[in-house]
Amino acid sequence: MWIDSHCHLNHDRLLHLGGAAQVADNARRSGVEGMLSVCCRASDEFPGLLETVRPLANVWCTVGVHPHEASDDAEKSVTSADLVRLANSDPKVVAIGETGLDYYYKFASREDQHLNFRKNLSAGIEAGLPVVVHSREAEEDTMRIIREEGQGTALTGVMHCFSSKRVLAEEALAFGFYVSFSGILTFKKSDELREIAKDVPLDRVLVETDAPYLAPEPHRKEINQPALMPHTGRVLADIHGITEEDLARITRENTLRLFAKAKETYAP
Ligand SMILES: [Zn+2]
Ligand SMILES: [Zn+2]
Repeated sequence: MWIDSHCHLNHDRLLHLGGAAQVADNARRSGVEGMLSVCCRASDEFPGLLETVRPLANVWCTVGVHPHEASDDAEKSVTSADLVRLANSDPKVVAIGETGLDYYYKFASREDQHLNFRKNLSAGIEAGLPVVVHSREAEEDTMRIIREEGQGTALTGVMHCFSSKRVLAEEALAFGFYVSFSGILTFKKSDELREIAKDVPLDRVLVETDAPYLAPEPHRKEINQPALMPHTGRVLADIHGITEEDLARITRENTLRLFAKAKETYAP
């Protein structure tokens, strides 16, 4: 049984598939027993997200501010202390994020993204929770800010949907972070990414869908959902020359080690 370490169960596009409960049910029938549904907007998305995951077994959520939302006034007014309070408000909230830097889409200024990233990282440190990091075309600044905020603390987290340069994986691993691979790993053009994945130690790798985005091959044109996670898992198992069952067990253990709070409500 797999755990999808990153999806967006309350995303509008999943309503076309019957909504979160239906999608979680589809996942279970495909061998995906757990899901982490990730927050992008703490101000208005988080309350509904928590309500979505609360009745679903082995489904957890995060609270945080996505880099795309970093210039939004409502999100700017959310403080680090607010994030800590929301994270501590329920056993289902197991991480801070997703946060980070995105220099590919310029939905927010770099200055706002830096402030936002620092705010989320300090919330992770303060709450003692891991941070889900989104990084696109921002390798250098991502690691610089993680080091500046996290050096000498117990900060940990994951580079989610990894598709950056090798140096970011290496430096994140050296800092103690995990690296998570999405459906991008299954795309024909992803040879370089598969080479990077080969060198991520098995005890530090996670798998995810990032649903509803980035459906893996051979479902690329469909709306992504956690039920499609095994396609990515199969590719990663092949890369490492191990069985799917072994990779499912290893990534499940890694996910529950990183998101340790989820373990408290995990019912296999
Ligand atoms: Zn992301
Ligand atoms: Zn995401």
